[in-house]
Formats: sequence, structure tokens, C-alpha cells
Amino acid sequence: MNMYNNNQILIISGPCSLESTEQMQEHLERYKNHQYLRAGLYKLRTSAESFQGLREDGIKIIKELKKKYKFKLVSEVVSSQSLELLSEVVDIFQIGTRNMYNYELLKKLNHYQQPVLLKRGFSATLNEFVEAAKYINNSVERVILCERGIRSFEQSYRNTIDINAVAYLKHNTKYKVIVDPSHGTAIPELIEPVSLAAIAAGADGLLIESHNNPNLAKSDADQALTHQQLDSIIHKVSSLASFMGKEVIC
Ligand code: PEP
Ligand code: MN
Repeated sequence: MNMYNNNQILIISGPCSLESTEQMQEHLERYKNHQYLRAGLYKLRTSAESFQGLREDGIKIIKELKKKYKFKLVSEVVSSQSLELLSEVVDIFQIGTRNMYNYELLKKLNHYQQPVLLKRGFSATLNEFVEAAKYINNSVERVILCERGIRSFEQSYRNTIDINAVAYLKHNTKYKVIVDPSHGTAIPELIEPVSLAAIAAGADGLLIESHNNPNLAKSDADQALTHQQLDSIIHKVSSLASFMGKEVIC
């Protein structure tokens, strides 16, 4: 099962978290031409006081929205308890950076058919990253590796996108590799240039956080892009893609 072909660049965008039916409707109306939507239903947050996601209520919202809109949902699985319910609405399971090493959870994904977007642990070596992917059966066909920035000594931005990793993984493995410049930088102004750098380095796609009104986002407000900023990235990445003989799918 190949998710998309080697000449395609997949851009998955949407809010950090699903916050309400109205929020999602506004987004889906604005991006009727997009197939892929990211939205966290269960959130793994550093602070227990931060918004933890709408959880089961969010699943109900997605079920209703899927009756009216056509989209593929990319959303994080945080534990095996929520997996069964999530599998009813999620089209691509996301495993977050904190769970890359959760091998029991990775094995549980083998009971389901959906592709898996596996994020690199923020301190994981590339060998550990690829070994984690192999917990998924037929992993080369089913797993998309996601470089989302690693922890480094640099404190000017949230994480450091390892561009080397993109080129290395493309050269040495057969996996699809995408980059998340939102968590990788957490600075809106850096997201466009880093997105272009990722594609130039050979990435097969991008995972980007956007919000109808970034100031009101319940999680990761500081790094959320406006629709205009997102549109600009898609536009420029499309030009770069055509230069590289590829096409963008969103
Ligand atoms: C996310 O993409 O919603 C997320 C929490 O990312 P990460 O696991 O990379 O921090
Ligand atoms: Mn986020």
C-alpha cells in the first residue's frame, strides 16, 4: 500500500488541536480543496495544566464533520486505550515525539490498517528512529517518518530541524520523510524558509500548524500560522516542487 508516489509532496496542515465544531467548519470551508487535515484530539502536553484536547468529544465532532466534508484526518494516538475509538475517525495515525520509543503502542498499530506518521523522538538517533519504524509491519509502505526537530544546545528556537536527517534518510532508506517546521522552529517567520529548505533537501512533505485565529489557539498559539501565511508556503513549495519535477498534494 503506497500512500502517495515519489513525485508528490504531501502538505498536511491544520490546527494543533481540534477545539470546537465551529473552528473545524471554518477551516474546512476555507480549505475545501484540501484532502489532508491535521488536528490533535488527544494532546500530550509538557504541562498538566495545558489544554489536553477534546478527546472523546473530539471524536464525536469528527464523526459529524465527516458526514458533511471530505477529508483525511491525521491525528495523534497517545495511548493504546484511545486507539480503538480513534481508529474510527483517523486516516493516518500520528505517533508523537514523546511516544517514538513506546514500542508496545507501536505494536498495537499493527491491529489496524491506517498508515502511520512517526515523529522522531527529540533525542533519538536516526538508527533509533528507523528501528522504531520497523515495529510497524510492512513499515516502508506504511510509515512516514517525520523530522520535527531535535533538542540541541541552541535556545533561540524550540527545536533544531535536522536537515541532514532528511537527506540522510532519503539516501539510506526507502521511507517517505516529511518535516514538521512548526514544532521544529515554533517561530512563524521561520516556518516558510525552513519548509523550502526541507523540500530542497528531498523531503516528501510537510506537516504545518495553522489556525483561523492564531491568537486564540488553545495550544501552540505562538507557532500557529495564519491562513495567508500557510497559503504563501503552499504557493512557494509548489513552485519549488515543479522545479524538482514534483507536484504538491494537500
Ligand atoms: C503535534 O504534532 O501535535 C505534536 C504534539 O508534535 P510533537 O509530538 O512533534 O511534539
Ligand atoms: Mn502543536
